[in-house]
Amino acid sequence: RNPASAALLDDLNREQRAAVTHAGGPLLVVAGAGSGKTRVLTRRIAYLLGERGVAPGQIMAITFTNKAAAEMKDRVAELVGARARAMWVSTFHSMCVRVLRREAKTVGLGSNFSIYDADDTRRLVTIVARDLDLDPKRYPARTLAMHMSNLKNELSTPVEATERAGNDLERRVAEVYTAYQRRLEQANALDFDDLIMRTVEMLQTYPDVAEYYRRRFRHVLVDEYQDTNHAQYTLVRELVGGAATAEAAPEANAGPGPAELCVVGDADQSIYAFRGATIRNIVEFERDYPQAKTILLEQNYRSTQTILSAANAVISRNADRRDKRLWTESGEGEPIVGYVADNEHDEAAFVAGEIDALCDSGQYGYSDFAVFYRTNNQSRVFEEIFIRLGLPYRVIGGMRFYERREVRDALAYLRVLANPEDTVSLRRILNVPKRGIGDRAEACVATYAERERITFAEALRAGARGEVDLLNSRSVKCLAAFVELLDSLHELVERGDEIAEILEAVLDRTGYRAELEAKAHDDPQDASRLDNLTELVTVAREFTEDAATLQTLEEDEGAPEPGSLEAFLERVSLVADADSLPDADDGEDADEAEQAEGTGMVTLMTVHTAKGLEYPVVFGTGWEDGVFPHMRALSEPAELAEERRLAYVAITRARQRLYLSRALMRSAWGQPMANPASRFLDEIPDAVVQWRREEPSPRGAGSSGPSVASTWGRRTGGDSAQAGLAARGMRSTPFKGWQETPAMALQPGDRVNHDKYGLGTVVTTEGTGARATATIDFGSSGTLRLMLIGSVPMVKL
Ligand code: ATP
Ligand code: MG
Repeated sequence: RNPASAALLDDLNREQRAAVTHAGGPLLVVAGAGSGKTRVLTRRIAYLLGERGVAPGQIMAITFTNKAAAEMKDRVAELVGARARAMWVSTFHSMCVRVLRREAKTVGLGSNFSIYDADDTRRLVTIVARDLDLDPKRYPARTLAMHMSNLKNELSTPVEATERAGNDLERRVAEVYTAYQRRLEQANALDFDDLIMRTVEMLQTYPDVAEYYRRRFRHVLVDEYQDTNHAQYTLVRELVGGAATAEAAPEANAGPGPAELCVVGDADQSIYAFRGATIRNIVEFERDYPQAKTILLEQNYRSTQTILSAANAVISRNADRRDKRLWTESGEGEPIVGYVADNEHDEAAFVAGEIDALCDSGQYGYSDFAVFYRTNNQSRVFEEIFIRLGLPYRVIGGMRFYERREVRDALAYLRVLANPEDTVSLRRILNVPKRGIGDRAEACVATYAERERITFAEALRAGARGEVDLLNSRSVKCLAAFVELLDSLHELVERGDEIAEILEAVLDRTGYRAELEAKAHDDPQDASRLDNLTELVTVAREFTEDAATLQTLEEDEGAPEPGSLEAFLERVSLVADADSLPDADDGEDADEAEQAEGTGMVTLMTVHTAKGLEYPVVFGTGWEDGVFPHMRALSEPAELAEERRLAYVAITRARQRLYLSRALMRSAWGQPMANPASRFLDEIPDAVVQWRREEPSPRGAGSSGPSVASTWGRRTGGDSAQAGLAARGMRSTPFKGWQETPAMALQPGDRVNHDKYGLGTVVTTEGTGARATATIDFGSSGTLRLMLIGSVPMVKL
């Protein structure tokens, strides 16, 4: 063997090596967490390039997050050098964008199509549902959007959905879906689900196009295969092509043989069922691909035996699974530390204290720690205490930069400049900042567009010329000014100005910045909005600089011109990938996660986001029934099984030390709620957990109920961290400030963050003073009507 190949194979075990070197038929690698699946995939790519003479351009690898894609590319580049750049390594979404840009003409799209994320989608669904006169209480936009998304994940077209609709809801969804698709088309836009569905449709409709990709990509590799949905499964099949060639007549120009497919996954880590992911794809891989070879990996290289024992114990409670036992050579390691906190603030103080102590001991740096929680809204308490203690941290997901209102407004302007037909963006900025184009004028324009069967943008121009009926002369003037403004900005694009310059011009000429500046004196939020916009300008500037260096290296067919406005918007929409969950919000924020690693910060994130990652020390928090497992899962066996897989994912992220904690009381609605211990905690064998602080027994604690003092003296072993906190004047007292906001002034459309229900959007408001209430759409937590007086545990964003 030559030395290079030895280097590629030497630090692999026998099964891993077999997977890396396997040639020919489809290959499935199934294995538990931390057994080297991702390593095998990366190594296999290096091996293909280095040993099997495969050209980088013939390789397509699909990962679950942008971060994972970047990492994989880097690792391969380390092994084989710069030519790794010509590979396609991306998420399903990014890959489809690339293909669709290239084939835009074929599928009847403008190549400058916009990508609508979850928020855009919801807005458009709201507009469509209103047009269809659907009662928003009975058919909330969010519900409609979710059902529509499910249909797309199943590759059901509007026509099929209409035909198959069996009940009232399904019929409504089909109506919305049909109208929604028509709107998207007019706007030359695709939503995230469309990216996949349209690519599949194209490959199925145009055999020559499909054949081009099959000839081109001789190797398709997919990580986290257990979380693919039906549309993604079909996409892979179409790309690989096994099925189609069997039917080809022998005399016909037989296409290329099927590409080599290699997928890796772990059915126990399937945590995206709510997005249509199905482990069927992994379980029935051998049926889908009869020639398939399956390789099992069982040795774990990530965690200690103690951590694996806990993971095995929890996941083994799930029925209908293939039993596999992970083992490791790395020894027992430290016991798992359990902690029962009085409340969520006490829990956060404990976590902060432990991190502090472990860092002081010199064994660990901040970036070695990850704190996991079930839903994003749980991050706030940790943030507060980390800030007060001066612990550097970073939150992945949550209210992400690209979701902030001002950032979205600014981007909407850019999107309209790149694609004037982008109706959702256009309507978003129509009267932002206020310029006298009210709802009524907007409605007139929309009606006119419907009637004349022209786009909203065209109708807007007609309005500016005074051709739209019912518009008063003031509105006409305002519309004309707006059109003129857009045209003047568009000139900058034509002229080839840099994106940062265009963005500056947008912020200045629209008066957006001036408006915030005027208000910034009174409202610190407006000040931070200004900061965010400055940040966005920086992002644009860096993008242009990056593009200048990338231009020569990237193979860029199909991609928009590097450095162009389209390229910028595309990157932004994929980084801010709307892959967010209803309430867990996995946010695959590549940049954020990346930075957290290098710069010595503790990482805070949901368990969903943590998939595929590993950290020396992991804190699993909020292990309470009703929190984790989620309330919704308690009475639903299928959902409970998914929560259990989520627990398995959480535990198996830890390399050396694992902490699991819960709180006796956790505030919800500004009211403390007592949650019992998570059933998953009970499933972990006592032998591997050392309780740093247990639930006080009724006798021992006296009648005063749980309190810090009553249990403090019981163990002293781990209290150095608490002592450290005390020394800095820290107590685990609840942080109140934001809870005591007086009656909040809210308007429809405002975004809020609720302690318990997370992010929401105000739908309507009613009443004033003590009777003020707001109906708020909290996504999967439901649409709720809340009182606005008193200590509402909610902030306006
Ligand atoms: P997950 O299911 O969580 O995605 P995985 O199966 O993809 O896990 P990897 O992330 O590839 O596992 O590997 C886990 C850890 O073990 C990594 O740090 C990896 O470098 C290491 N590892 C894998 N195989 C070996 C090996 N043969 N020798 C040494 N270390 C290994
Ligand atoms: Mg992996």
